[in-house]
Parts: sequence; C-alpha cells; structure tokens
Amino acid sequence: MLLPIVQTGHPVLRAEARELSRDEIKSQEIQELIEMMRETMRAAPGVGLAAPQIGESIQLAVIEDEAGEKTKLSKDELEKRGRNPVAFHVIINPKLVPMGDDKVDFFEGCLSVNGFAANTSRYKSVRVSALNESAEEITLNASGWYARILQHEIDHLNGILYIDRMHSTTFTTVENRMRFWD
Ligand code: ZN
Repeated sequence: MLLPIVQTGHPVLRAEARELSRDEIKSQEIQELIEMMRETMRAAPGVGLAAPQIGESIQLAVIEDEAGEKTKLSKDELEKRGRNPVAFHVIINPKLVPMGDDKVDFFEGCLSVNGFAANTSRYKSVRVSALNESAEEITLNASGWYARILQHEIDHLNGILYIDRMHSTTFTTVENRMRFWD
C-alpha cells in the first residue's frame, strides 16, 4: 500500500520525532509501516523517506539508492556526486556525527517540497549510529551522496528541511533547474 506524502507547511514536518523502543520496533505495526514506506519510497521515486513525511512523528527512515539508470545522470555526474548504489536499509533513533569539516554543494530536492530543488551544503562524510529494523545497533560510515541522504533524512526526524540549509538564491523549480542550472 502506498502512503500519501505530506507536503511542506504540515506541522508534522517541523516536529521533533519521538524515539522508538526496541519492543515497538519489533511490533507488527512498525514492521508493516517499514514495508509500506519502502513501497512508497520506490514508487515516488526517492532515495530516502522519513516517517514524518508520511505523517508519523517517529525516529524512523528508510534509504535505498540504486544510483543507476533511473537517475538519468551520466556516469560522470554520478561520480562527481560520489553517488554509489546503497542497498535498502532502515535507520531508527539515529545519531549523526560529521567526520571532519569538509562540505560539498549540490542541488537537492525533497518529496515533501515537491517540484523544487536548491543548492545545499552537506558534510562530505558522516558517521551514524542507529538501530535497524530488528532493533540491532548499527554504525554507518558514509561519504558522498550517501552521506547527503543520511543528513537529509535525519534532519527530517528533527523537524528540519533542506530549505533551512539551502543557498536560498538557488531555489528553483525542477523544470527551471534543468533549463538554467545544468
Ligand atoms: Zn526530504
């Protein structure tokens, strides 16, 4: 079942999402929610989806990046972004630490700010500790596009959108981005 994606202006996107207990994570309700979020992310299509985006104020996000043909980016463009395939996985109650001060600028969009994009600075490398869908502790070391996805999704769990971090004069419709910015 596909879930409707909440758009900017809805207060759930600005709330601090609550953490999940290990028992909650293992519940049928959360396991089913993860399945529906996976389907919804794939259908959108997107490379990440945080629970507040489907109206649930809980610290959970799903991530998957095929980084392949679907993106319509050339091999060179994928390389410039440090964009490599990332298998489907779930992060719950994540804590993010930047690795170093290096930042990179690229255009970024959001399924909850549909139809727009903007150049946004993100840390080049990050480390995330979290729980997975089996309530096991995981540590993720990420750089390039994957690091950007993690920062974007974890921001959602803290009520932050990319429009809070973007270089605001680059804010554009997706159509005009392709027309004027590529
Ligand atoms: Zn988003």
